[in-house]
Amino acid sequence: MDALYALEEEDKKKREETKKKIFKKVEFSANNYLSNSLRLENGENEKIVVFRPLPFILEDGSTTMFVKVAAHSVKKGKDFNYYICPKHTKGIEHLELGKECPFCELENRFLTEKKNTTSEEKKKSFGMEAMKNRVVSQWIMRGIERGKEQDGVKFWKFNDVTKGGNYDRIVKLDKLRNNESVDAGDGEYSIFDLEKGKDLNIQLSKSLNKDGKEVVTITSITDAGRETPISKDEETGMKWLTDDKKWFDVFTPKQYDVLRIFAMGGTPMFNKEFKVWTNKDDFDKIKNAGGNPVYDEENDEWVDEKDYNTKHNKVSEVEEIEKIEETYSNVVENHEVEDELPF
Ligand SMILES: [Zn+2]
Repeated sequence: MDALYALEEEDKKKREETKKKIFKKVEFSANNYLSNSLRLENGENEKIVVFRPLPFILEDGSTTMFVKVAAHSVKKGKDFNYYICPKHTKGIEHLELGKECPFCELENRFLTEKKNTTSEEKKKSFGMEAMKNRVVSQWIMRGIERGKEQDGVKFWKFNDVTKGGNYDRIVKLDKLRNNESVDAGDGEYSIFDLEKGKDLNIQLSKSLNKDGKEVVTITSITDAGRETPISKDEETGMKWLTDDKKWFDVFTPKQYDVLRIFAMGGTPMFNKEFKVWTNKDDFDKIKNAGGNPVYDEENDEWVDEKDYNTKHNKVSEVEEIEKIEETYSNVVENHEVEDELPF
């Protein structure tokens, strides 16, 4: 398996190209994420989060309620972290991020290995590894959380599940209300209407999953009983609608070098000295064992200082020069000796 992780020349080149770029930091605020409210405290068994979706205003002026992105997941503890796939996601800074994705590359490598092996057991394990790195679709919505209007516009990202997922539930609800309106002779209707739309009631509850572990799930999404404007105050409504925070400011797509470390299960840490992303887990491991981590640029890894010196058979510059001079003088001497030989 390790051989698969070994970086090939092409990867190395790619890293060289990207590592010197400067990446802007987006200020983090928990208020930007609806998911922060979609959890239950200890002792809390259920709750309803009221969310009012707002449209995304796209560059060409058109609007949409949902933005689709592609992502890769990494399991950390009992949670999954998702990372935007730069290869399969549209509308992000490809000029800055490129279109290469270490997760997709890993998937391809595992698929190739799977194809090339004759062992059924290996086929299975390569298949599993490929699956882990496969891209999944996610939806993003933006809107306001009722009762927390002061937080401003929030973003909500969830997996695209074919049936019974949040996207499916919300779209079906919108269709249902439209059909009801048309059938009653009142014309087309949408729960997303800015003036006469509906807030969404997201019902959460605790339940046990198939492994007997307690999990928080969204048990239902229903629309409010009354039609309301996005805000009673027009100016506030306008402010939310035209809010310039973009989904990618909140779910920041990561650059190749950072994703590469995540894809290998590590934690990226920026090394200021070499201007390169490194794996913090390796750094910590050496530090915790009482060592002194030194970044080995050539091999792109953290090593203990004493191992680094042995590995590189470190010679000082002076020693190096002396060695060269010694060799040179030997050559000259030998040459002279040869010359002097009487024939
Ligand atoms: Zn990808």
